[in-house]
Amino acid sequence: ARGKLDEADLLISRAYVAGEWLEGDDTPIRVEDPFTLETIAEVASVNASTAQQAVNAAAGALPAWAARPAKERGAIVRRWFELIVQHREDLARLITRENGKPMREARGEVDYANQFMEFYADEATRVLGEIIPAAEPGRRMLAEREPVGVCAAITPWNFPLAMLTRKAAPAMAAGCTMVAKPAGQTPLSALAFAFLGQEAGIPPGVFSVVTGRAGPIGEVVTQSPAVRKLTFTGSTPVGTMLMAACAPTMKRVSMELGGNAPLLIFDDADLDTAVETAIVAKFRNSGQSCIAANRIYVQDGIRDRFLSAFAGRVSQMSAGDGFDEQNDIGPLIDEAAIAKVEEHREDALTRGGRLLAGGASPGGRIALPTLLANVPEQAMLAQEETFGPLAGVIGFDTVERAIGLANDTPFGLAAYLCSQDPAKIAHVSRALETGMVGINTGLISSAHAPFGGVKMSGVGREGSHQGIEEYLSTKYICQAGL
Ligand code: ADP
Repeated sequence: ARGKLDEADLLISRAYVAGEWLEGDDTPIRVEDPFTLETIAEVASVNASTAQQAVNAAAGALPAWAARPAKERGAIVRRWFELIVQHREDLARLITRENGKPMREARGEVDYANQFMEFYADEATRVLGEIIPAAEPGRRMLAEREPVGVCAAITPWNFPLAMLTRKAAPAMAAGCTMVAKPAGQTPLSALAFAFLGQEAGIPPGVFSVVTGRAGPIGEVVTQSPAVRKLTFTGSTPVGTMLMAACAPTMKRVSMELGGNAPLLIFDDADLDTAVETAIVAKFRNSGQSCIAANRIYVQDGIRDRFLSAFAGRVSQMSAGDGFDEQNDIGPLIDEAAIAKVEEHREDALTRGGRLLAGGASPGGRIALPTLLANVPEQAMLAQEETFGPLAGVIGFDTVERAIGLANDTPFGLAAYLCSQDPAKIAHVSRALETGMVGINTGLISSAHAPFGGVKMSGVGREGSHQGIEEYLSTKYICQAGL
């Protein structure tokens, strides 16, 4: 499964600008396999002036693309979807190669990514305006929906394909054009995606991928008046900075930022469901997800039973090479990611945490699936995102206390709860200050549902009919003298 890949396997190392595949301007980006630490590719690094060319091409291509009937745009997105189905294994292999996640999860990511293509291919034809009953005689009042215009997308490394399709698919369907900058660690799946888009019939300039240094490219897309919207998924500090940079040109922004999600397990939860929810919410994607359950709060009456069942499951999980189908957890993305997990584990142990499964990193980028009990509320792992396979269980007594702990964070992306009491579920899910709540499940993402946060977790929604609204603006047309 590992081995040398080339363009026949969709491994492309050039940038895609204005319908052309370009060699870079600067020192290439070295893309590394996070398990073997080998170089997989030296990807073109474009400079600010090439990024500006991509923006200019997107502006040039906009009028014709926006004027295409929605049905035609939808059909092209549909062809793109079908090509992704055909190349599922190639794309999954690229994702595991550059990101490290187990192949099973990489295939899952391709399928999830492609849900957005399928959904928005159809959604293109369902963008409806309004006819408003006129307030005075002789008038006609309409609210039409128009594409926002040129969009820039900046995406992270943890779901390198899905975080791009959930931006690109609604943008294309709405009639916008887009310049995308993938994360430096994982540009390959974005370039493969662009290649399939070209095959599907996306016209030159409508969708470009600029690989290169984040700073200069970020400056071009935020400062350019031609860019009317920035959609970003990544860390809260970078999102805050980019949103400020968009203010002088008054761009629309969508921000999907950090999470610090709580999982609340109440005494009346079904034990098997609670354990399964914790496993999925914590360990999916090796813990490197913005909706990962970062803090696990378990009520006094179920805690011992939960811990022994959860410890049994965690100690059966294995971490290692993503290409070994046995493994549940792949390598983490870089040294800093390992260092953070190690620091959070040490900190919790120093504060009195008890190790029930896993332990210190065996080396390389591998973090063992680890479970700690008796973790105090102030521990680092409950205060900031660990972004790794480390679960810490914190106790609580009352429902109100659990709600207080869950909301005691500047973030508000996802929260999870396990209970079998309908009244408690209704009360707690309303009281949680988050954009998403998973009840008796750790798996909530779907192209059909609105994904997004409140508080410092961002603005805007991706997925569902709401996700295409982000790429549309309203034009009110008032005609008199009728
Ligand atoms: P992560 O912790 O996921 O790496 P980042 O916010 O650093 O989070 O990265 C998310 C995306 O933002 C990546 O594509 C990264 O290259 C990009 N990015 C980071 N810094 C900047 C910046 N100063 N300007 C524009 N993009 C940036």
